[in-house]
Amino acid sequence: MLLNERVERTELTVLKLLNLRMEIPDDAKHRLSILQKGYEGELRFDESSAWLAEKFLILRDLFLDYDGNKFQIDTLIITQKCIVVCEVKYYQGNYYYEDGEFRNITTRKKIKNPLHQLSRCKTLLSQLLQKHGFHLSIDGNVIFNHPEFFLYDAPQDKPIIYLPQLNQYLHNLSGLPSVLNDGHHRIAQFLLERHIANPPFELPFSYDFNGMRKGFCCGRCGSFFVSSGGRNLVCNNCGFEEELGTAVLRCVEEIRLLFPELKITTKLVYEWCGVEGGRKRVMRILNKHFKKMGYGKHVYFI
Ligand SMILES: [Zn+2]
Repeated sequence: MLLNERVERTELTVLKLLNLRMEIPDDAKHRLSILQKGYEGELRFDESSAWLAEKFLILRDLFLDYDGNKFQIDTLIITQKCIVVCEVKYYQGNYYYEDGEFRNITTRKKIKNPLHQLSRCKTLLSQLLQKHGFHLSIDGNVIFNHPEFFLYDAPQDKPIIYLPQLNQYLHNLSGLPSVLNDGHHRIAQFLLERHIANPPFELPFSYDFNGMRKGFCCGRCGSFFVSSGGRNLVCNNCGFEEELGTAVLRCVEEIRLLFPELKITTKLVYEWCGVEGGRKRVMRILNKHFKKMGYGKHVYFI
């Protein structure tokens, strides 16, 4: 049984939006690319492993805390006799393994050791569960699932799964005992309750409303090259069509996420997306979907 859906991390959504509407610094672009790739890799792993949910309990993207130590688990599978932690890495390119470290072959730079991350996750998870009276052994693997990842001098004695091995690995997992009882469900419920849904993050730069590029951008590809044809917006880049009302609501969500301190007013939303046909149209859409607060010039929506 699949117990939760993977959702895009707020940090990734915020960076994507800011990257569309302003020039973000290089380190933020780098961070954005890491988050995007990581998320893509996790979604691909979800696709490959979803069928295991018929036999086991699967939890995705858990963010947990044990005694102030935060840790994240990409995918956690509860089987009858053990919990399997999957640390998914969507690295691309050539790497080599030397003296217990992973290095990029071009830059020779060390990368954060995914085996250490896995082992830290397993230790903290085990401590967290034991403290609350749950005793199930914990197993785990690092999964490199990018088709263009290659590791020279790869160690054979480490819990690593490469893409060509993934199907066999999942097949072997599916053969594990799968008689699950209340105890297994209690562990899953406990972990879901402890999950921190929106972990705080810090941006390495600041931004303000005035510095943002205004206008509609396409809900699929992010292009600003969209035309409004009556009730619909049409993207001239990818052809995506979106109802105007939906696009305005999406803009409201963008403003709320980026500027939680601002009150949603007709003027603000109109300025953000610049609807053809003007402010009245925006006001009608806001009136329909939100609760109106205040009077006259001070009207805002919640
Ligand atoms: Zn588009």
